Amino acid sequence: MFASLSDRLTATFKNLRGKGRLTESDVNATIRDIRLALLDADVALPVVKRFTGSVRERALGAEVSQALNPAQQVVKIVQEELVGILGGQTRTIRFAKQPPTVIMLAGLQGSGKTTFAGKLGKWLKDQGHTPLLVAADLQRPNAVTQLEVVGERAGIPVFAPERGNMGGHDAVLDSGEGTRSFGDPVSVSRLGIEQARARQYDVVIVDTAGRLAVDANLMQQAGDIRAAIAPDEVLFVLDAMIGQAAVETAQAFHEGVAFTGVVLSKLDGDARGGAALSVAELTGEPIMFASTGEKVTDFEVFHPDRMASRILDMGDVLTLIEQAEKAFDKRQADEMARKFLAEEDFTFEDFLQQMNAIKKMGSLKSMLKMMPGMQGMRDQLDAFDDREFDRVEAMVRSMTPFERTHPKQINGSRRARIAKGSGVTVTEVNQLLERFGQAQKMMKSMARGGGGGLPGMPGI
Ligand code: GDP
Repeated sequence: MFASLSDRLTATFKNLRGKGRLTESDVNATIRDIRLALLDADVALPVVKRFTGSVRERALGAEVSQALNPAQQVVKIVQEELVGILGGQTRTIRFAKQPPTVIMLAGLQGSGKTTFAGKLGKWLKDQGHTPLLVAADLQRPNAVTQLEVVGERAGIPVFAPERGNMGGHDAVLDSGEGTRSFGDPVSVSRLGIEQARARQYDVVIVDTAGRLAVDANLMQQAGDIRAAIAPDEVLFVLDAMIGQAAVETAQAFHEGVAFTGVVLSKLDGDARGGAALSVAELTGEPIMFASTGEKVTDFEVFHPDRMASRILDMGDVLTLIEQAEKAFDKRQADEMARKFLAEEDFTFEDFLQQMNAIKKMGSLKSMLKMMPGMQGMRDQLDAFDDREFDRVEAMVRSMTPFERTHPKQINGSRRARIAKGSGVTVTEVNQLLERFGQAQKMMKSMARGGGGGLPGMPGI
Protein backbone atom coordinates (compact mmCIF):
# COMPACT_ATOMS: atom_id res chain seq x y z
CA MET A 1 0.00 0.00 0.00
CA PHE A 2 1.58 3.25 -1.17
CA ALA A 3 4.83 1.33 -1.18
CA SER A 4 6.90 3.33 -3.61
CA LEU A 5 5.60 6.65 -2.33
CA SER A 6 6.61 5.62 1.13
CA ASP A 7 10.06 4.53 -0.05
CA ARG A 8 10.64 7.75 -1.92
CA LEU A 9 9.62 9.98 0.96
CA THR A 10 11.66 8.02 3.44
CA ALA A 11 14.70 8.27 1.16
CA THR A 12 14.18 12.03 0.82
CA PHE A 13 14.18 12.51 4.55
CA LYS A 14 17.31 10.41 4.90
CA ASN A 15 19.14 13.05 2.87
CA LEU A 16 18.37 15.59 5.55
CA ARG A 17 19.74 13.44 8.29
CA GLY A 18 22.57 14.89 10.30
CA LYS A 19 22.05 18.44 9.06
CA GLY A 20 22.22 20.88 11.91
CA ARG A 21 20.42 23.60 10.02
CA LEU A 22 18.34 23.59 6.87
CA THR A 23 19.22 26.13 4.22
CA GLU A 24 16.73 27.36 1.69
CA SER A 25 18.38 25.18 -0.92
CA ASP A 26 18.06 22.10 1.33
CA VAL A 27 14.37 22.84 1.66
CA ASN A 28 13.98 23.42 -2.08
CA ALA A 29 15.74 20.17 -2.93
CA THR A 30 13.55 18.31 -0.47
CA ILE A 31 10.40 19.88 -1.86
CA ARG A 32 11.45 18.91 -5.38
CA ASP A 33 11.92 15.29 -4.30
CA ILE A 34 8.59 15.27 -2.51
CA ARG A 35 6.84 16.73 -5.56
CA LEU A 36 8.31 14.06 -7.83
CA ALA A 37 7.47 11.30 -5.38
CA LEU A 38 3.86 12.43 -5.16
CA LEU A 39 3.48 12.84 -8.92
CA ASP A 40 5.01 9.44 -9.55
CA ALA A 41 2.53 7.98 -7.08
CA ASP A 42 -0.31 9.47 -9.18
CA VAL A 43 -1.34 12.11 -6.67
CA ALA A 44 -3.33 14.71 -8.61
CA LEU A 45 -1.39 17.79 -9.72
CA PRO A 46 -3.45 20.48 -7.93
CA VAL A 47 -3.14 18.51 -4.72
CA VAL A 48 0.62 18.16 -5.18
CA LYS A 49 0.97 21.90 -5.76
CA ARG A 50 -0.96 22.88 -2.71
CA PHE A 51 0.79 20.30 -0.60
CA THR A 52 4.33 21.21 -1.57
CA GLY A 53 3.46 24.91 -1.33
CA SER A 54 2.45 24.66 2.29
CA VAL A 55 5.26 22.30 3.23
CA ARG A 56 7.79 24.69 1.75
CA GLU A 57 6.34 27.69 3.49
CA ARG A 58 6.21 25.97 6.83
CA ALA A 59 9.65 24.38 6.48
CA LEU A 60 11.28 27.72 5.72
CA GLY A 61 9.44 29.48 8.48
CA ALA A 62 9.83 26.66 10.96
CA GLU A 63 10.62 27.89 14.41
CA VAL A 64 13.67 26.42 16.06
CA SER A 65 12.59 23.45 18.06
CA GLN A 66 14.36 22.11 21.09
CA ALA A 67 12.91 18.68 20.74
CA LEU A 68 13.29 18.05 17.03
CA ASN A 69 16.23 18.21 14.70
CA PRO A 70 15.67 19.82 11.29
CA ALA A 71 15.04 16.53 9.49
CA GLN A 72 12.48 15.51 12.07
CA GLN A 73 10.86 18.89 11.80
CA VAL A 74 10.38 18.47 8.06
CA VAL A 75 8.96 14.99 8.56
CA LYS A 76 6.57 16.38 11.11
CA ILE A 77 5.42 19.13 8.75
CA VAL A 78 4.97 16.64 5.90
CA GLN A 79 3.06 14.34 8.20
CA GLU A 80 0.72 17.11 9.31
CA GLU A 81 0.11 18.30 5.75
CA LEU A 82 -0.50 14.73 4.64
CA VAL A 83 -3.09 14.35 7.39
CA GLY A 84 -4.75 17.48 6.02
CA ILE A 85 -4.91 16.12 2.49
CA LEU A 86 -6.34 12.86 3.74
CA GLY A 87 -9.19 14.77 5.33
CA GLY A 88 -7.90 15.77 8.76
CA GLN A 89 -10.30 14.32 11.27
CA THR A 90 -11.42 10.72 11.36
CA ARG A 91 -15.06 10.50 10.40
CA THR A 92 -17.30 7.44 10.22
CA ILE A 93 -21.02 6.85 9.80
CA ARG A 94 -23.43 9.50 11.07
CA PHE A 95 -26.43 7.65 12.34
CA ALA A 96 -29.95 8.90 11.75
CA LYS A 97 -31.85 10.15 14.78
CA GLN A 98 -34.73 7.96 13.74
CA PRO A 99 -33.60 4.47 12.71
CA PRO A 100 -33.04 2.91 10.30
CA THR A 101 -29.91 4.73 9.18
CA VAL A 102 -29.74 4.25 5.43
CA ILE A 103 -26.34 3.85 3.80
CA MET A 104 -26.13 3.65 0.04
CA LEU A 105 -23.05 2.28 -1.71
CA ALA A 106 -22.04 3.53 -5.13
CA GLY A 107 -19.05 2.97 -7.38
CA LEU A 108 -17.85 1.29 -10.53
CA GLN A 109 -18.40 -2.39 -11.12
CA GLY A 110 -15.59 -4.38 -9.57
CA SER A 111 -14.64 -1.58 -7.21
CA GLY A 112 -15.40 -3.82 -4.25
CA LYS A 113 -18.85 -2.56 -3.23
CA THR A 114 -20.42 -5.92 -2.54
CA THR A 115 -17.41 -7.14 -0.61
CA PHE A 116 -17.40 -3.92 1.37
CA ALA A 117 -21.12 -4.20 2.13
CA GLY A 118 -20.36 -7.37 4.09
CA LYS A 119 -17.41 -5.79 5.88
CA LEU A 120 -19.35 -2.70 6.86
CA GLY A 121 -22.25 -4.85 8.00
CA LYS A 122 -19.97 -6.93 10.19
CA TRP A 123 -18.29 -3.85 11.63
CA LEU A 124 -21.68 -2.38 12.52
CA LYS A 125 -22.89 -5.66 13.95
CA ASP A 126 -19.79 -5.94 16.11
CA GLN A 127 -20.75 -2.57 17.57
CA GLY A 128 -24.18 -3.78 18.51
CA HIS A 129 -26.13 -2.59 15.49
CA THR A 130 -28.57 -4.73 13.56
CA PRO A 131 -27.78 -4.14 9.89
CA LEU A 132 -29.71 -5.36 6.87
CA LEU A 133 -28.09 -5.63 3.44
CA VAL A 134 -30.24 -4.76 0.45
CA ALA A 135 -29.38 -6.17 -2.97
CA ALA A 136 -30.22 -3.37 -5.37
CA ASP A 137 -27.56 -4.30 -7.90
CA LEU A 138 -29.78 -5.92 -10.49
CA GLN A 139 -27.43 -5.17 -13.36
CA ARG A 140 -24.85 -7.83 -12.91
CA PRO A 141 -26.23 -11.37 -13.24
CA ASN A 142 -24.63 -12.72 -10.09
CA ALA A 143 -24.68 -9.66 -7.91
CA VAL A 144 -27.64 -10.68 -5.77
CA THR A 145 -26.27 -14.16 -5.14
CA GLN A 146 -22.88 -12.65 -4.38
CA LEU A 147 -24.35 -10.32 -1.79
CA GLU A 148 -26.17 -13.26 -0.25
CA VAL A 149 -22.89 -15.15 0.03
CA VAL A 150 -21.19 -12.10 1.52
CA GLY A 151 -24.07 -11.63 3.96
CA GLU A 152 -23.93 -15.22 5.04
CA ARG A 153 -20.21 -15.01 5.63
CA ALA A 154 -20.62 -11.86 7.69
CA GLY A 155 -23.69 -13.18 9.48
CA ILE A 156 -25.87 -10.34 8.18
CA PRO A 157 -29.35 -10.85 6.67
CA VAL A 158 -29.89 -9.84 3.07
CA PHE A 159 -33.03 -8.45 1.50
CA ALA A 160 -33.16 -9.48 -2.15
CA PRO A 161 -35.80 -9.51 -4.85
CA GLU A 162 -37.57 -12.83 -5.11
CA ARG A 163 -35.84 -15.37 -7.28
CA GLY A 164 -37.26 -15.46 -10.75
CA ASN A 165 -38.45 -11.92 -10.38
CA MET A 166 -35.09 -10.38 -10.92
CA GLY A 167 -33.66 -8.60 -13.85
CA GLY A 168 -36.79 -8.07 -15.88
CA HIS A 169 -38.19 -4.62 -15.40
CA ASP A 170 -41.70 -5.90 -15.86
CA ALA A 171 -41.45 -8.55 -13.20
CA VAL A 172 -44.07 -7.84 -10.60
CA LEU A 173 -45.14 -9.13 -7.26
CA ASP A 174 -48.47 -8.62 -5.60
CA SER A 175 -47.71 -7.11 -2.25
CA GLY A 176 -51.31 -6.60 -1.26
CA GLU A 177 -51.19 -2.89 -1.99
CA GLY A 178 -51.56 -3.25 -5.68
CA THR A 179 -48.72 -4.46 -7.81
CA ARG A 180 -45.22 -3.20 -7.60
CA SER A 181 -42.32 -3.68 -9.87
CA PHE A 182 -39.81 -5.85 -8.10
CA GLY A 183 -37.23 -5.83 -10.78
CA ASP A 184 -36.08 -2.27 -10.58
CA PRO A 185 -33.48 -1.18 -8.08
CA VAL A 186 -35.43 1.81 -6.81
CA SER A 187 -38.34 -0.40 -5.70
CA VAL A 188 -36.05 -3.00 -4.24
CA SER A 189 -34.26 -0.33 -2.21
CA ARG A 190 -37.55 1.11 -0.99
CA LEU A 191 -38.91 -2.29 -0.06
CA GLY A 192 -35.68 -3.14 1.72
CA ILE A 193 -35.98 -0.05 3.86
CA GLU A 194 -39.63 -0.78 4.61
CA GLN A 195 -38.62 -4.25 5.63
CA ALA A 196 -35.91 -2.87 7.91
CA ARG A 197 -38.40 -0.54 9.54
CA ALA A 198 -40.93 -3.31 10.03
CA ARG A 199 -38.41 -5.75 11.46
CA GLN A 200 -36.45 -3.17 13.41
CA TYR A 201 -33.12 -3.38 11.73
CA ASP A 202 -31.37 -0.16 12.66
CA VAL A 203 -29.05 0.21 9.65
CA VAL A 204 -29.75 -0.53 6.00
CA ILE A 205 -26.87 -0.93 3.56
CA VAL A 206 -28.03 -0.64 -0.04
CA ASP A 207 -25.68 -2.18 -2.60
CA THR A 208 -26.24 -0.56 -6.00
CA ALA A 209 -25.12 -1.46 -9.51
CA GLY A 210 -21.92 -0.26 -11.11
CA ARG A 211 -20.68 -0.14 -14.66
CA LEU A 212 -17.22 -0.74 -15.94
CA ALA A 213 -16.85 2.95 -16.69
CA VAL A 214 -18.77 6.02 -15.67
CA ASP A 215 -21.82 6.44 -17.92
CA ALA A 216 -24.94 8.52 -17.93
CA ASN A 217 -27.30 5.58 -17.31
CA LEU A 218 -25.38 4.46 -14.28
CA MET A 219 -25.44 7.93 -12.77
CA GLN A 220 -29.10 8.31 -13.56
CA GLN A 221 -29.92 5.05 -11.83
CA ALA A 222 -27.75 5.84 -8.81
CA GLY A 223 -29.24 9.33 -8.67
CA ASP A 224 -32.77 7.90 -8.83
CA ILE A 225 -32.08 5.52 -5.97
CA ARG A 226 -30.59 8.33 -3.95
CA ALA A 227 -33.60 10.54 -4.56
CA ALA A 228 -36.02 7.73 -3.71
CA ILE A 229 -34.47 6.54 -0.49
CA ALA A 230 -32.90 9.75 0.86
CA PRO A 231 -29.93 7.95 2.43
CA ASP A 232 -28.17 9.30 5.51
CA GLU A 233 -24.82 8.44 3.94
CA VAL A 234 -23.78 7.73 0.38
CA LEU A 235 -20.45 5.95 0.35
CA PHE A 236 -18.43 5.98 -2.84
CA VAL A 237 -16.30 2.85 -3.08
CA LEU A 238 -13.09 3.54 -4.96
CA ASP A 239 -10.66 0.89 -6.12
CA ALA A 240 -7.29 2.36 -5.15
CA MET A 241 -5.66 0.32 -7.90
CA ILE A 242 -7.25 2.11 -10.84
CA GLY A 243 -4.59 4.82 -10.75
CA GLN A 244 -5.13 8.16 -12.45
CA ALA A 245 -8.70 7.28 -13.40
CA ALA A 246 -9.61 7.46 -9.71
CA VAL A 247 -9.72 11.24 -9.75
CA GLU A 248 -12.08 11.50 -12.71
CA THR A 249 -14.27 8.70 -11.42
CA ALA A 250 -14.54 10.32 -8.01
CA GLN A 251 -15.42 13.67 -9.50
CA ALA A 252 -18.09 12.12 -11.73
CA PHE A 253 -19.66 10.28 -8.80
CA HIS A 254 -19.47 13.36 -6.64
CA GLU A 255 -21.48 15.30 -9.19
CA GLY A 256 -23.76 12.37 -9.98
CA VAL A 257 -24.73 11.08 -6.54
CA ALA A 258 -23.28 13.66 -4.16
CA PHE A 259 -21.57 11.05 -2.02
CA THR A 260 -20.92 11.91 1.61
CA GLY A 261 -17.91 9.71 2.16
CA VAL A 262 -15.28 7.61 0.43
CA VAL A 263 -14.21 4.01 0.90
CA LEU A 264 -10.79 3.13 -0.48
CA SER A 265 -10.79 -0.49 -1.49
CA LYS A 266 -7.99 -2.86 -2.44
CA LEU A 267 -5.51 -0.93 -0.36
CA ASP A 268 -3.71 -4.21 0.09
CA GLY A 269 -2.63 -4.01 -3.53
CA ASP A 270 0.75 -2.82 -4.62
CA ALA A 271 -0.43 -0.07 -6.91
CA ARG A 272 0.75 3.48 -6.60
CA GLY A 273 -2.54 4.53 -5.08
CA GLY A 274 -1.77 8.23 -4.93
CA ALA A 275 -4.81 9.18 -6.95
CA ALA A 276 -6.98 7.74 -4.23
CA LEU A 277 -5.11 9.90 -1.76
CA SER A 278 -6.21 12.98 -3.71
CA VAL A 279 -9.89 12.21 -3.44
CA ALA A 280 -10.65 13.77 -0.07
CA GLU A 281 -8.87 16.97 -0.98
CA LEU A 282 -10.47 17.21 -4.43
CA THR A 283 -14.05 16.43 -3.44
CA GLY A 284 -14.02 17.74 0.10
CA GLU A 285 -15.59 14.50 1.31
CA PRO A 286 -13.89 12.39 3.96
CA ILE A 287 -12.33 8.99 3.43
CA MET A 288 -14.13 6.91 6.01
CA PHE A 289 -13.05 3.32 5.53
CA ALA A 290 -10.38 1.20 3.93
CA SER A 291 -10.86 -2.24 2.50
CA THR A 292 -7.68 -4.24 2.58
CA GLY A 293 -8.40 -7.71 1.26
CA GLU A 294 -11.02 -10.20 0.27
CA LYS A 295 -11.86 -11.45 3.75
CA VAL A 296 -14.71 -9.93 5.70
CA THR A 297 -12.28 -8.88 8.44
CA ASP A 298 -9.97 -7.00 6.03
CA PHE A 299 -11.52 -3.71 6.98
CA GLU A 300 -10.32 -0.60 8.75
CA VAL A 301 -11.72 2.71 9.79
CA PHE A 302 -9.65 5.25 7.89
CA HIS A 303 -7.71 7.51 10.23
CA PRO A 304 -5.96 10.25 8.25
CA ASP A 305 -3.30 10.70 10.92
CA ARG A 306 -2.49 7.03 11.18
CA MET A 307 -2.42 6.60 7.41
CA ALA A 308 -0.03 9.53 7.07
CA SER A 309 2.24 7.97 9.67
CA ARG A 310 2.08 4.68 7.86
CA ILE A 311 3.02 6.29 4.56
CA LEU A 312 5.94 8.01 6.24
CA ASP A 313 6.94 4.70 7.77
CA MET A 314 6.32 5.91 11.27
CA GLY A 315 4.31 2.78 11.89
CA ASP A 316 0.70 2.40 12.79
CA VAL A 317 0.74 0.86 16.18
CA LEU A 318 -2.71 2.15 17.11
CA THR A 319 -4.39 0.30 14.25
CA LEU A 320 -2.36 -2.74 15.13
CA ILE A 321 -3.64 -2.60 18.67
CA GLU A 322 -7.21 -2.22 17.47
CA GLN A 323 -6.85 -5.22 15.19
CA ALA A 324 -5.55 -7.12 18.15
CA GLU A 325 -8.52 -6.10 20.26
CA LYS A 326 -10.80 -7.68 17.72
CA ALA A 327 -9.10 -11.00 18.12
CA PHE A 328 -8.00 -11.06 21.74
CA ASP A 329 -9.98 -10.91 24.88
CA LYS A 330 -9.80 -7.68 26.83
CA ARG A 331 -7.13 -8.83 29.23
CA GLN A 332 -4.84 -10.06 26.49
CA ALA A 333 -5.41 -6.90 24.47
CA ASP A 334 -4.54 -4.66 27.39
CA GLU A 335 -1.44 -6.68 27.99
CA MET A 336 -0.40 -6.38 24.37
CA ALA A 337 -1.09 -2.66 24.31
CA ARG A 338 1.00 -2.27 27.42
CA LYS A 339 3.85 -4.18 25.84
CA PHE A 340 3.67 -2.08 22.73
CA LEU A 341 3.57 1.18 24.56
CA ALA A 342 5.73 0.44 27.55
CA GLU A 343 9.40 0.10 27.31
CA GLU A 344 9.26 -3.55 28.02
CA ASP A 345 10.43 -6.51 26.03
CA PHE A 346 7.92 -8.28 23.93
CA THR A 347 8.88 -11.92 24.42
CA PHE A 348 8.40 -15.07 22.41
CA GLU A 349 6.11 -16.18 25.19
CA ASP A 350 3.74 -13.31 24.37
CA PHE A 351 4.23 -14.04 20.74
CA LEU A 352 3.23 -17.65 21.11
CA GLN A 353 0.28 -16.88 23.34
CA GLN A 354 -1.06 -14.49 20.80
CA MET A 355 -0.22 -16.47 17.73
CA ASN A 356 -3.52 -18.28 17.53
CA ALA A 357 -5.46 -15.13 18.10
CA ILE A 358 -3.45 -13.42 15.39
CA LYS A 359 -4.36 -16.20 13.02
CA LYS A 360 -7.97 -15.24 13.57
CA MET A 361 -7.20 -11.71 12.48
CA GLY A 362 -6.50 -12.78 8.94
CA SER A 363 -3.22 -11.93 7.36
CA LEU A 364 -0.11 -11.60 9.45
CA LYS A 365 1.53 -9.90 6.53
CA SER A 366 -0.83 -6.95 6.64
CA MET A 367 -0.21 -6.58 10.35
CA LEU A 368 3.53 -6.67 10.00
CA LYS A 369 3.29 -3.93 7.43
CA MET A 370 1.83 -1.63 10.03
CA MET A 371 4.83 -1.89 12.28
CA PRO A 372 7.21 1.04 12.40
CA GLY A 373 10.26 0.65 10.20
CA MET A 374 8.83 -2.26 8.29
CA GLN A 375 8.62 -0.40 4.99
CA GLY A 376 12.32 -0.98 4.51
CA MET A 377 11.73 -4.70 4.76
CA ARG A 378 8.97 -4.69 2.22
CA ASP A 379 10.61 -7.16 -0.14
CA GLN A 380 10.95 -9.70 2.61
CA LEU A 381 7.40 -8.99 3.68
CA ASP A 382 6.05 -9.45 0.18
CA ALA A 383 7.81 -12.76 -0.08
CA PHE A 384 6.28 -13.67 3.24
CA ASP A 385 3.87 -16.51 2.99
CA ASP A 386 1.34 -16.71 5.79
CA ARG A 387 2.13 -20.40 5.98
CA GLU A 388 5.51 -19.38 7.23
CA PHE A 389 3.62 -18.65 10.39
CA ASP A 390 3.41 -22.38 11.02
CA ARG A 391 7.17 -22.71 10.71
CA VAL A 392 7.67 -19.80 13.08
CA GLU A 393 5.25 -21.36 15.51
CA ALA A 394 7.15 -24.63 15.32
CA MET A 395 10.40 -22.81 16.09
CA VAL A 396 8.94 -20.95 19.05
CA ARG A 397 7.40 -24.14 20.37
CA SER A 398 10.82 -25.75 20.26
CA MET A 399 12.19 -23.08 22.59
CA THR A 400 12.30 -23.58 26.32
CA PRO A 401 10.35 -21.15 28.51
CA PHE A 402 13.66 -19.55 29.45
CA GLU A 403 14.57 -19.03 25.81
CA ARG A 404 11.19 -17.54 25.01
CA THR A 405 11.57 -14.86 27.64
CA HIS A 406 15.30 -14.33 27.05
CA PRO A 407 15.73 -14.47 23.28
CA LYS A 408 19.11 -12.74 23.50
CA GLN A 409 20.46 -15.72 25.42
CA ILE A 410 19.79 -18.13 22.59
CA ASN A 411 23.31 -19.13 21.60
CA GLY A 412 24.62 -21.36 18.86
CA SER A 413 23.91 -24.71 20.47
CA ARG A 414 20.44 -23.61 21.51
CA ARG A 415 19.79 -22.46 17.96
CA ALA A 416 20.90 -25.81 16.57
CA ARG A 417 18.59 -27.61 19.00
CA ILE A 418 15.64 -25.38 18.11
CA ALA A 419 16.27 -25.94 14.40
CA LYS A 420 16.38 -29.67 14.88
CA GLY A 421 13.31 -29.71 17.06
CA SER A 422 11.23 -27.75 14.59
CA GLY A 423 12.54 -29.23 11.38
CA VAL A 424 14.01 -26.03 9.98
CA THR A 425 17.54 -24.88 9.23
CA VAL A 426 19.71 -22.97 11.69
CA THR A 427 19.65 -20.07 9.20
CA GLU A 428 15.90 -19.84 9.61
CA VAL A 429 16.24 -19.75 13.37
CA ASN A 430 18.86 -17.02 13.02
CA GLN A 431 16.57 -15.01 10.77
CA LEU A 432 13.68 -15.31 13.17
CA LEU A 433 15.79 -14.13 16.09
CA GLU A 434 17.16 -11.26 14.11
CA ARG A 435 13.73 -10.12 12.97
CA PHE A 436 12.37 -10.47 16.45
CA GLY A 437 15.21 -8.38 17.84
CA GLN A 438 14.52 -5.67 15.28
CA ALA A 439 10.83 -5.66 16.04
CA GLN A 440 11.54 -5.35 19.74
CA LYS A 441 13.81 -2.41 19.08
CA MET A 442 11.21 -0.70 16.91
CA MET A 443 8.58 -1.09 19.57
CA LYS A 444 10.91 0.37 22.12
CA SER A 445 11.72 3.38 20.02
CA MET A 446 8.00 3.89 19.44
CA ALA A 447 7.35 3.63 23.12
CA ARG A 448 10.08 6.02 24.07
CA GLY A 449 8.48 8.86 22.17
CA GLY A 450 9.53 12.40 23.24
CA GLY A 451 13.03 12.69 24.66
CA GLY A 452 14.76 14.03 21.55
CA GLY A 453 12.97 12.18 18.82
CA LEU A 454 9.55 11.72 17.40
CA PRO A 455 8.05 8.38 18.27
CA GLY A 456 8.68 5.80 15.65
CA MET A 457 10.78 7.72 13.24
CA PRO A 458 13.32 5.01 12.75
CA GLY A 459 16.72 6.10 11.78
CA ILE A 460 16.12 9.82 11.89
P1 GDP B 1 -18.49 -4.75 -6.91
O1 GDP B 1 -18.69 -5.09 -8.36
O2 GDP B 1 -18.20 -3.29 -6.74
O3 GDP B 1 -19.58 -5.23 -6.02
O4 GDP B 1 -17.12 -5.46 -6.48
P2 GDP B 1 -16.91 -6.82 -5.70
O5 GDP B 1 -17.20 -6.64 -4.26
O6 GDP B 1 -17.58 -7.91 -6.42
O7 GDP B 1 -15.32 -6.95 -5.84
C1 GDP B 1 -14.67 -7.17 -7.07
C2 GDP B 1 -13.47 -8.07 -6.86
O8 GDP B 1 -12.52 -7.41 -6.04
C3 GDP B 1 -13.79 -9.35 -6.14
O9 GDP B 1 -13.01 -10.38 -6.72
C4 GDP B 1 -13.38 -9.11 -4.72
O10 GDP B 1 -13.00 -10.31 -4.07
C5 GDP B 1 -12.20 -8.20 -4.91
N1 GDP B 1 -12.03 -7.28 -3.77
C6 GDP B 1 -12.96 -6.48 -3.19
N2 GDP B 1 -12.41 -5.73 -2.20
C7 GDP B 1 -11.09 -6.08 -2.16
C8 GDP B 1 -9.97 -5.63 -1.37
O11 GDP B 1 -10.05 -4.78 -0.48
N3 GDP B 1 -8.77 -6.21 -1.66
C9 GDP B 1 -8.62 -7.14 -2.64
N4 GDP B 1 -7.41 -7.65 -2.85
N5 GDP B 1 -9.63 -7.57 -3.39
C10 GDP B 1 -10.85 -7.05 -3.17
